[in-house]
Amino acid sequence: MKSVVHRQHGRPEAYTQIGVRRLPCFRCGDRAEYQWNVCADGLHHPVCTRCDIQLNALVLHWMLHPHAEQLVEEYARSKGYVISGYRSWPSAVQFHAVAEPW
Ligand SMILES: [Zn+2]
Repeated sequence: MKSVVHRQHGRPEAYTQIGVRRLPCFRCGDRAEYQWNVCADGLHHPVCTRCDIQLNALVLHWMLHPHAEQLVEEYARSKGYVISGYRSWPSAVQFHAVAEPW
């Protein structure tokens, strides 16, 4: 992953397929192929193929989807990648309690 020195794009409207490919991936800076709409900031963000696969893996595991591993492997393969070692990282996300404001 490149260091984050590229401009991190995002906008409320969806990018066109051609338009998003002109932009760097929000996370790593590689050429974007897809976009993710992040409700928390209200923006569409360009993402590269590898980051899109990682996001799909993260979400499928978060969903406790009964076929998460198979779906992720098939999705990655359909995009030209064979992946390994991804099973551990969604569960490696650490959560810390946030102090209540009141
Ligand atoms: Zn990326």
